[in-house]
Amino acid sequence: THHPFVNYGKKTKASYENMKEAKNYLPGGVTANIKHFAPYPIVMNKANGAWVEDVDGNKYIDYLMGYGSLALGHGHKDIRLAINKQLSDDGTFLFGTPHRLEVEFAKRIQEHYPSMEKMRYTNSGTEATLLAIRLARAFTGKGKIAKFEGHYHGGYNSMLYSINPPLSEAGEEGEPLPVPESSGLDTFKENEPIILPFNHLHATESLIKKHASELAAVIVEPVQGGFIPAKQEFMDLLRKVTKKYGIVLIFDEVKTGFRVSLGGAQSVYNISPDLTTLGKAIGGGFPIGLVGGKEKIMATSSPKVAGDVFDVGQGNNSSAKDTLFHSGTYNGHPTILAAGLATIDRLQKEFSIVEENTTILRRKLEHVAKKANVPIKTVGIGTIFSVLCTREKNIYNYRDLQKTNLPLRKEIDYHLLDEGIYTKPLNRYSLSTEHGEEELNKTINAYERVLNSRLEDGG
Ligand code: PMP
Repeated sequence: THHPFVNYGKKTKASYENMKEAKNYLPGGVTANIKHFAPYPIVMNKANGAWVEDVDGNKYIDYLMGYGSLALGHGHKDIRLAINKQLSDDGTFLFGTPHRLEVEFAKRIQEHYPSMEKMRYTNSGTEATLLAIRLARAFTGKGKIAKFEGHYHGGYNSMLYSINPPLSEAGEEGEPLPVPESSGLDTFKENEPIILPFNHLHATESLIKKHASELAAVIVEPVQGGFIPAKQEFMDLLRKVTKKYGIVLIFDEVKTGFRVSLGGAQSVYNISPDLTTLGKAIGGGFPIGLVGGKEKIMATSSPKVAGDVFDVGQGNNSSAKDTLFHSGTYNGHPTILAAGLATIDRLQKEFSIVEENTTILRRKLEHVAKKANVPIKTVGIGTIFSVLCTREKNIYNYRDLQKTNLPLRKEIDYHLLDEGIYTKPLNRYSLSTEHGEEELNKTINAYERVLNSRLEDGG
């Protein structure tokens, strides 16, 4: 039989045993819901460059790349060296005070993201969007946030709506309903976001207009999921409308930063958002987040301290509520900033090569699929893309994605796991500087075998 689970069970016995034990301690055996997939996830053990090895000793070419975080692949020597140097030069794991790397890293980010006039560090992308939203509310004095259907910004109350909603509950395409993605959320109305339809110009414009007086911010993944690009005219419109109504435009570039281009989606679209969030790739695999943007918005978080030599005479007569609260024991962690600097240094030299390799891989996958007569197209920009099973020419948003053949894509993914190509089923592909000719050729050959002879329906 062709069924992908037959080999899976044989090859991943140790993963099965590991997951069985894990379930005794962790709900579902996992540390994040998305790490789970049927029949049980593969448990990894070692990694090097573009490769990962599981607890059974199976080797895979890794396209998950830490959900896109590993722009230099696994265990890159530049990052190891930078971390070691920082640990021995400074002799600390954590200062808990201002330190030099906080400025060095910020300068480097600003070179690539000039819209980030001032910035603040956090420990994750989730915290970054949370802070961005607070900044927007503090700055505008308004309360509501609009987000797009199918877009993810982190796992907290006000953003856990309409990421992957059942279409039966999601309302009209042009006026989507907020569908909660979790039990246990705060359910008061003020916290519920306005949901906008991505890449729908007229509907988005009229919804923003309708709610303008209560909207503090519109937050958007400018390339949805890191792979579905906004139309240029859609981004232009979003910039224009938010500006007109005094609404803060937040580009969530946690996935797209240093991925769709070095300068993120904002450089691709040539748009200057009011606030930007970054994460993932800027930490080279270590936990980090960053919020930055317009000086006047970021200044909301500047502490007003009596006796501050840079702020003479203004410090002591404002109330606590004038300053936006932002804190975090590990913000600007020195080891992580050292890893991030090494990542950006190396990426500056090699980004165009990774980008070119990604284009080659996509073109070859599409060619192999065409020859095998399997409806496949790739969608993406820069060094991330996804494989969609569809003959549809244009994929613009969540609802378009739901119309593609997701079961076929999943079936292909399980066969690819058996062939030693790792993507979490249905996940996107992220490349790294370590994906070279050997890895690309092996991937293409695996695709060729799967599409020509392994699919249930014969391909
Ligand atoms: N925003 C976007 C666009 C993301 O892709 C993610 C992570 N998938 C987040 C925010 C949250 O980041 P983190 O997982 O680091 O909290």
